[in-house]
Parts: sequence; structure tokens; C-alpha cells
Amino acid sequence: MQKVRNLKKQQKLPESRLRDNLEAIDRIRTDAVNDIESLTETFQHMALVTESVQQNYKALLAHNQLLKDTLLCIIDECDCCQKTRCDRCQRILQILAGNNPEPQINAARKYQAILTQIRNLG
Ligand SMILES: [Zn+2]
Repeated sequence: MQKVRNLKKQQKLPESRLRDNLEAIDRIRTDAVNDIESLTETFQHMALVTESVQQNYKALLAHNQLLKDTLLCIIDECDCCQKTRCDRCQRILQILAGNNPEPQINAARKYQAILTQIRNLG
């Protein structure tokens, strides 16, 4: 009798292990589906952020273009001519060419100056 009971136990063991495995697989798959849903939401959010940055950048480019056009208009409407540009027009042309005559402020030096001011306040 004892032998029969042991034999039944041994026969049930693989089935219960199989059921445990199937449950574990189900849990893993449910987790995977949840992870994919979460990833999809993240990607949708990222797409919205990217679209917003793209729109802001386009607006910035359009504004930049408008400013350049305005500066060129100022030169066109000035009384000076191309060979003898006045100081103001020469300055505008230098800025448009990227040769800004204004001294560039070194970012690190500026940061240092701000830090010094803050420390002096304390
Ligand atoms: Zn001029």
C-alpha cells in the first residue's frame, strides 16, 4: 500500500511541476506585456517631447531668419553704398558674417565672476 502511495506521489510530481512552470511562464508573459505597454507610453511621451522641441527650433530658426532679413533691410535702406559702408552697416555685416567685434565673454570666467559675487554677498 505504501508503495502504491509513493508511486502515485511520484506520478503527480511531474504534473505539479509542469503546472508550476506554466504559471511561472504566464507571470513572465504578463510582466512582459506590462513592460511593453510601459515602453509604448514612454515612446509616445518621447515623441511628443521631440515634436515640441522640433516646433520650438523651427520657430527659433524663423525668428532668426526674420532678424537677419531685418538687418539686411537696414543696410539696404541706409544712405551709404557698398564700397563705402558706414560704421553701423559695417558692424551689422560683421555680425552677420559671424565676426562679432564685441568681445566674447568666456563662459567659465563669467561663471567664476558670478560665483565670486555670490560669495561676496555671504
Ligand atoms: Zn550704412
